[in-house]
Amino acid sequence: MAEIKTEYYKQNAVKAIGDPILQNALSNVQNRLGPATALCYQKLAEGPDLRLKAHKIREFAVNNLDILLPVLAQKIRDRGGKVFFARNAEAATAYCLEVARENRIKMVVKGKSMVTEEIGLNQVLEANGIEVNETDLGEYIIQLAGESPSHIIAPAIHKTRKEIGRLFTEKLGIPYSEDPPVLTQAARKFLREKFLKAGMGLSGCNMACAETGHITTVSNEGNIRMSTTLPKIHMAFMGMERVTARLEDHDVLFRLLSRGAAAQNMAGYVSYIGGPRTPDQLDGPDQFHLVILDNGRSRILADPEFREALFCIRCAACLNVCPAYGKIGGHSYGYPYSGPIGAVITPLLTGINRAKDLFLGEPLCGACKKACPVDIDLPRMLLALRAKAAYGDHQWAVTRVNPREKFLFEIFSILIRNRKLYDLAMKAGVFFQKWLPRKQGMISHIPFVFKGWTQSRDIKPLARTNFLTLWKNRNQKS
Ligand code: SF4
Repeated sequence: MAEIKTEYYKQNAVKAIGDPILQNALSNVQNRLGPATALCYQKLAEGPDLRLKAHKIREFAVNNLDILLPVLAQKIRDRGGKVFFARNAEAATAYCLEVARENRIKMVVKGKSMVTEEIGLNQVLEANGIEVNETDLGEYIIQLAGESPSHIIAPAIHKTRKEIGRLFTEKLGIPYSEDPPVLTQAARKFLREKFLKAGMGLSGCNMACAETGHITTVSNEGNIRMSTTLPKIHMAFMGMERVTARLEDHDVLFRLLSRGAAAQNMAGYVSYIGGPRTPDQLDGPDQFHLVILDNGRSRILADPEFREALFCIRCAACLNVCPAYGKIGGHSYGYPYSGPIGAVITPLLTGINRAKDLFLGEPLCGACKKACPVDIDLPRMLLALRAKAAYGDHQWAVTRVNPREKFLFEIFSILIRNRKLYDLAMKAGVFFQKWLPRKQGMISHIPFVFKGWTQSRDIKPLARTNFLTLWKNRNQKS
């Protein structure tokens, strides 16, 4: 399981906001990809309403996982592939390790996969003496740097060309350059050798299809195709929700996935994989394994309020428009999934209380829903999580996050419904505020339970005469 560092959200966010390089990188991504994706949806032959069709496709699949997953598994087994249903991260990594040991694997190559980040696969393999080589350029960079991805599809967006140049000089021993083609060539040369020597290739799975019994992977670098065809063993990992019923569903979803992810009509490489190499095929692996991971998804599936979170196809479009992500970046979220989808899925997977800052930190502006290629109502689920944090929830083992805050809001609710009490409270506020510290006429600090209000802003003092009194006086005069 990936290390969970969600409790450092606030500290990480403060650090990220103060980092000018990161701020520049984030605004570049958001200014470029956010509007470009919206434009791409407009240009679809079916128009942006295709997103609603995609929503229905995902809804149907998620509602029928109990039928689709066994069908998928059976078709893969019929072609000689092996399918393993992993209840949790430990079971998934243990299965991978067992296969690696049985086949005396010393080195693996790996395509980008968020689900393997979630289960902490690299760490487990490396702790057991197996060399892991990330082959997606962004993942390769952060692996060299010893960091985790900061974006679902662009894991190294927080790194500048200069930083990557210095990193490559230090780790690969090449002369310093910050020229992207030179750096890409260097990575390519180092990785080519790994592809040829690796005993096992690991990949994720963008989507699987029950009708045909295959998984589909998409990439823009061709590295996944090499990871899944050159080594003698290919093991793919998928979250249990990533299946659809029919092949024609893939057409809709992949057109939207590429647009949502990178404002592209289609990714450069799309591979359909349904088992190991057949005797008449010259290339391909001798063994094909598919690990289907639960790791908390069944629990989400069982709750009608959050089931929709499983419709996600991990395109990252919601990150590219989210004002919170655009300021604090992916590392602040403390888990592989970041942005609005991370703020929903991470608390559900790792604990609502523990990851509460993630959904409390999202602004509920609604941009993520509009950008999502499968029209997931993330704001609704963010609000539902907030309600659980406010009121507690036995089923999800949530204790009230801040009972004091709830008490204060109850008092406020009484005040606001009683005119006389409210006026009295306002008068008391006007009287007591003269002892509060000020900066340029603004109140800069309110003590006790209210101190959060002035933690990052100064507020205007209450007016001596409020609007209603002014209005009354004016009407009396006229
Ligand atoms: S919630 Fe929607 S926009 Fe966000 S990653 Fe998932 S599919 Fe993409």
